[in-house]
Amino acid sequence: MNIAIDPGAAAVLDRLHRAGHKAYLVGGCVRDSLSGRAPQDWDICTSARPEQTLALFGAAQCIPTGLRHGTVTVKQGGGLYEVTTFRTEEGYADGRHPDRVAFVAEVEADLARRDFTINAMAYNAAEGLVDPFGGAEDLLVRRVVRAVGDPARRFEEDGLRILRLYRFGAREQLALDAATAAAAVAARGRLGCVSAERIWQELSKLLAAPRPARWMPPEILQAILPELDMGCYAAALRAVDALPPDPLARLAALLAPSGPAAAAQALARLRCSNAEAAVVRALVAESGLALTGEAPRRQAWRLLARLDGGTACRLLALRQAQTGEAGFGAVAAAAGQLLAGHACCRTAQLAVDGRDLLALGLRPGPAVGRALAAALDEVVEERLPNERAGLLGWLRTQHWT
Ligand code: ATP
Ligand code: MG
Repeated sequence: MNIAIDPGAAAVLDRLHRAGHKAYLVGGCVRDSLSGRAPQDWDICTSARPEQTLALFGAAQCIPTGLRHGTVTVKQGGGLYEVTTFRTEEGYADGRHPDRVAFVAEVEADLARRDFTINAMAYNAAEGLVDPFGGAEDLLVRRVVRAVGDPARRFEEDGLRILRLYRFGAREQLALDAATAAAAVAARGRLGCVSAERIWQELSKLLAAPRPARWMPPEILQAILPELDMGCYAAALRAVDALPPDPLARLAALLAPSGPAAAAQALARLRCSNAEAAVVRALVAESGLALTGEAPRRQAWRLLARLDGGTACRLLALRQAQTGEAGFGAVAAAAGQLLAGHACCRTAQLAVDGRDLLALGLRPGPAVGRALAAALDEVVEERLPNERAGLLGWLRTQHWT
């Protein structure tokens, strides 16, 4: 088995080997290479102590990322490579982080601290794959995510691993090893030890997987989102799978049955960014949107008159996923056309404004708004272009009361 190693990572490995240290690619990059996916980061583990790595590459080429935990980031050929000393971990008193790490000489001990067999493989060109826990077979043959060692203990040590289990399962479309899955559900109380930011980070990665519902057991989702209306959970999951892999629309699908107040509470607890929370709140608030029977184009511009383009498109996808009504798809297509053509959908986007109407002799008051709405209607229905001279001419011919 050969991995096409990123040139920068190969150069870092080579330098460590020449200095007499053991060094391997490890974790996600080995997993992704085996499953034929382009790795995002090329992480390296080594017998070299952090100070030896620093001395070997020199301060200018290194960022001392986490020396206490053994990590030095090495700059090489325009890329950044995390080089971490082989280590074991002990004593997870807080249910999330090790109390102590100890540097060790052999890669096998380092692989044993890792969460799942598919993440506990190392590789270098000379030795090939180092896979003491059967990660390659789990990934490629058995197609399961399985904890390294005793799953109950591994989830007790670090509650975040519970969410990582479902995230890797969903992303790689792997089944869950039965004992590992049972231990994850049993240990769900440990999710209380995980910070809100990390929960949202993991949940959004899970919601970005192709069809994640199979990897979203009710007990786990209820533990991280107590606001969920579990009576509607099965329907919400169907909507999640029917949606494109858009974490915010999918989170809205989960929270919509609970209503705006509970959704706002969940978003605050997850510490979503203001921008993310605004999108989800808007989707939940609008999730009663129904088709009207008007032409799709007209429904689309009504929506675009109230909502920004991104929210409108997400809302239409959400409603389509929730209801299965193809009509929402037609409105979405029309909205896409209007947006692509930078169509005028709001009175504020008209080439005329209130001052023009006052200049035409209208009295300040509701008549101005009605005239602008009527002008918008002419533009939206393509009876008039959105041009000042033509619109003024048309406005002059009308009677505004
Ligand atoms: P991704 O492509 O999502 O980055 P990854 O496998 O690289 O996937 P990281 O979170 O970057 O995941 O972690 C790198 C490696 O460190 C993992 O492959 C795993 O071996 C180990 N690891 C990360 N987090 C944990 C954890 N909470 N418990 C045990 N091992 C972990
Ligand atoms: Mg990674």
